Amino acid sequence: MDIFSEIDPLRSYIKKKKAEGKTIGFVPTMGSLHEGHLSLIKLAKEKADEVVVSIYVNPEQFGPDEDYENYPRELDADLMKCEDLNVNAVFTPSDEIMYGYTQHLRIEIDELNRYIDGGSRPGFFEGIIIVVNKLLNIVEPDIAVFGQKDIQQFIILQQMVTEFNHDVNLVMGPIIRANDGLALSSRNAYLNQDERQKAPSLFRSLQYIEKQISDGVGTPALLLEHQKSELESKGLEIDYLNIFDRKTLKPVEMLIKSKSYIIAGAVYIGDTRLIDNILIEF
Ligand code: AMP
Repeated sequence: MDIFSEIDPLRSYIKKKKAEGKTIGFVPTMGSLHEGHLSLIKLAKEKADEVVVSIYVNPEQFGPDEDYENYPRELDADLMKCEDLNVNAVFTPSDEIMYGYTQHLRIEIDELNRYIDGGSRPGFFEGIIIVVNKLLNIVEPDIAVFGQKDIQQFIILQQMVTEFNHDVNLVMGPIIRANDGLALSSRNAYLNQDERQKAPSLFRSLQYIEKQISDGVGTPALLLEHQKSELESKGLEIDYLNIFDRKTLKPVEMLIKSKSYIIAGAVYIGDTRLIDNILIEF
């Protein structure tokens, strides 16, 4: 496995692989790799000849009061996991390499970041757009794989790729969960034993809402209020719990037959913020 911390050698490597007729699959991550990340790497391996993984904790996507400093970093273990999966190349740039210049340009997002995580984390998706835009220009992959775990990220990146004509196909991998349903996340490492026990309640609420919708509940306001109270009674603090249109990412009050929706929630358990979602067609 080749490990690159600088851009030019990685570009030469990729040019060479492409000249050999190989397709390139790319999986961007912030490291501290778990089975969720590894599932995306496996998916990339199925769909492309060569797989490049980036491991970079992107400071641009953390707010001033967020966990950038404490975000788990486990590069040695991550490299071993990549090696075990026969990843071909890993890109581990420094901040100097990624942002070592005066930044004059930003990309603004219109509407798509108004709700869901964008509603709670100002600047978050602009930070993601910057780094993924740069990474796609550096790696120039044929496919790039992202997780449904961050569904709003996927939809905004799909829009970026379309509007800015990136020559890449985005692939969305399903959410990988622990046995009790908790979506795997690098941030789960912050949970103490008691918090970890409470954490799957978010997914259970989303599943309950999904079931009620499948059974025909088309105006979900009361259902949502009820599930919020349930979660609060278990000691979880709700950031949001709502149903959003799959295309516009706006909250919906009434569901319409044969349209797609995202049932999504974010909660605080202690200081840890967890997110989860279920995609559903009504
Ligand atoms: P991160 O390292 O948190 O930036 O995540 C890197 C990629 O892994 C993103 O595309 C995430 O959506 C994806 N991911 C994170 N958690 C999971 C999970 N539990 N299952 C599948 N993909 C995930």
